[in-house]
Amino acid sequence: MSMAAISLIQNFTVPGEISRKFALDWSSDNKIAVCTSKTIYVLNSFCSPVETGFPFPLHKQVIKIPDGPMQLNPAYIPPNPYRFIQSEEDRENLYSVLMDHTLNPTPPERAEIFRSFRCCKWSPKGAAGSGRCLLATLTMDHRLALYEEYNKEWKCICDLTELLKKEMLPERTHNISESRQNKNLRRKKKRESKHRTRSKRTSYYEETDEDEEEFDDEDPCNLYKHLNYEKLMNETYKYAPMEITWTGMFSGTPNSMNEKSYEFCFLIVAMKSGHIQFWKVSASEGRVISLLYEWDTGLGLITTLSWQQTSLIAGFLMCGSVKGILAFLPVAVVMDPDEEPKIAVKNMCKIWDEEDMLAVDHIAILKIALRKYACIAAKHHALIGCEITLTEDSIFIKNVGHAFGLHSLPVTGMAVLDARSIPQYRVLMSTMEGKLIEVKITLGEEEINFQHDLIPIDLDLKNNMIQGLAVSSNGFLCGLILNTAVYYDHLEKKEPIQFAMYVTKPVDEIFGKLKNMLKPQVSFLPATSTDITNHSDYLDIIRITLATGAALPDWLTAFMDNDPTTYENCSTIELYFMRFILQAYASGLAVAAPTLKGPLELKLYAVEAIIMRNYISKIFRSCQDNLDLLSPGQGQSLLLMADWLFKEFHMPVESLYSALGCETPSDPESLPARETCDICKTDVKLDNIKVGQCSKNHQFARCCQSLLLCDIVPYNQCPSCKSVALKNLWNFDSCCTYCGMMMLST
Ligand SMILES: [Zn+2]
Ligand SMILES: [Zn+2]
Repeated sequence: MSMAAISLIQNFTVPGEISRKFALDWSSDNKIAVCTSKTIYVLNSFCSPVETGFPFPLHKQVIKIPDGPMQLNPAYIPPNPYRFIQSEEDRENLYSVLMDHTLNPTPPERAEIFRSFRCCKWSPKGAAGSGRCLLATLTMDHRLALYEEYNKEWKCICDLTELLKKEMLPERTHNISESRQNKNLRRKKKRESKHRTRSKRTSYYEETDEDEEEFDDEDPCNLYKHLNYEKLMNETYKYAPMEITWTGMFSGTPNSMNEKSYEFCFLIVAMKSGHIQFWKVSASEGRVISLLYEWDTGLGLITTLSWQQTSLIAGFLMCGSVKGILAFLPVAVVMDPDEEPKIAVKNMCKIWDEEDMLAVDHIAILKIALRKYACIAAKHHALIGCEITLTEDSIFIKNVGHAFGLHSLPVTGMAVLDARSIPQYRVLMSTMEGKLIEVKITLGEEEINFQHDLIPIDLDLKNNMIQGLAVSSNGFLCGLILNTAVYYDHLEKKEPIQFAMYVTKPVDEIFGKLKNMLKPQVSFLPATSTDITNHSDYLDIIRITLATGAALPDWLTAFMDNDPTTYENCSTIELYFMRFILQAYASGLAVAAPTLKGPLELKLYAVEAIIMRNYISKIFRSCQDNLDLLSPGQGQSLLLMADWLFKEFHMPVESLYSALGCETPSDPESLPARETCDICKTDVKLDNIKVGQCSKNHQFARCCQSLLLCDIVPYNQCPSCKSVALKNLWNFDSCCTYCGMMMLST
């Protein structure tokens, strides 16, 4: 069964130009990065049940291109270099150097054009603290950097190319201008000696051995002998990042240095020389970013990389090259409890070994079964594929095949559909001529077959090229980036870039999957994945359904008729969804909401009370053995929590009261006020977990993580449900207690 027409839910424009296809990436915590030449837009749906309207708002953050152009290892080009040319080879080499921005980055008129983003890629969740993603960005002038979100802004936390530059040119980086001058002096001398030797070319070459050593170490672009293009390339291309991808998260065993296990992942970088580098990125031991491994693939210029994790300690990397080679590289992470993890790269296997000069544009890896994968790679208008089976001690690659697609212009985006389930047989592809194509593979005994289906979309694509495609974590939402296909002078006329979002499946099918996720058929499966960001595309689908006035399935709203005591048996994730729906009804987001809001608000409070109770039990468990280490604020917070459990659920936590030096109250109505109003200093009682009010009606929101009155700025706020939290009180996580979304600083 192939995809039906998919329906448009978002369509807006952003300024800028696309410098390269594959301009879109969707993170596993559901953020979308749109890569334009001078700006990366991070689009973020807060999945808010209180922001009304349709389409749902996508909040926009920007990452601007760095101010300074990157100059890796600028070749010295003397003024009027053509006067030094002695041979045709010299001429060719000089031309190659002059035209190559990597080697000759200094002309200011060109530096500006190359100071633009090439691509960006999201890390797996967990590379940044509290299970968040980092964004790796790469510019056309080879600046590779990592960005992390701090207080609603994306900040550069590491410029990896600057690190590489230091490694490449330790002596040159401190004072280039001085060494230039010295070089010019030496050059003058050299020129004099050269005039003498010019007449006897052979002896000149014989004699230059010493010279060469001295001279070439300083300056590989030695026009007096040869323009040493090869050497310059070898020295520079090795440090010039061209493509990037991320592995998934690995977790290290506890060792003598860290008692807790720590998590890390790798940023894999392909250099212009064909080398690949593995950078270890870890959030759990502070910020650690280090180059762990480097290896020459021998493939030359790599055009695309794709990673597939296959176990807790291994995976494979697929590399596509500009010459058309598709290579498979098994990679293992060797964990030694007392050392840094090591990367072990095994033999590379060329799945497509013909240098047909059809560059590999994109690679997708599908999981067919346990330890069995299929790979699809786009090479211009052709697709190639194969089946990969891993066994204990070997790897079998079979059924390498190819087919021509429905497209004649290059593929600009590719995403695996059903990426959270096994088996996966389908990918969605976008092409430069504006086609959206679903490719389904079937694996026979002897061959791999491709079935292509054009997917109709309700957008006029006549003059549009699709420049990027990405799908949400569960694959229900698909984003496209389009720009106009007509020729235009980009200096004269800036055509805006279009961003469009679609629902990829019939909504009934999505709700079917939601039911399986919330109420698993196999009852021994834990349904307590509390990580709501993995499922936020479900929330957006519910949001769309409610905002357009359509009905949710009965099973999903049945809880509204049930007695709130039945909510106690629900998993955290179910409670989040119930809460989301109730708040959407109460806020007016749902078009067809009941007019009587009172009962909805009572149910909403009942769900929030259960979520809070579960959260409090987590807090109590985590600090029951070290109550004497609590800060005064934390002690106060525990006391409020104990009071509230007693009041709402009639659970007197006697041990806690006595540990905090308080008497256990005798009945819920006689609980003393524990706080005073910041404005009038009268008592504030704990009547409600969301708000506190004094006798003169001054109102404060209550912190969702501590229950304390939130009367201090700045505080954190949940972008989704708008709950607030005091900063630095309980540092368990930065998620909203009520809805599980990441909180942001105000
Ligand atoms: Zn007051
Ligand atoms: Zn929230």
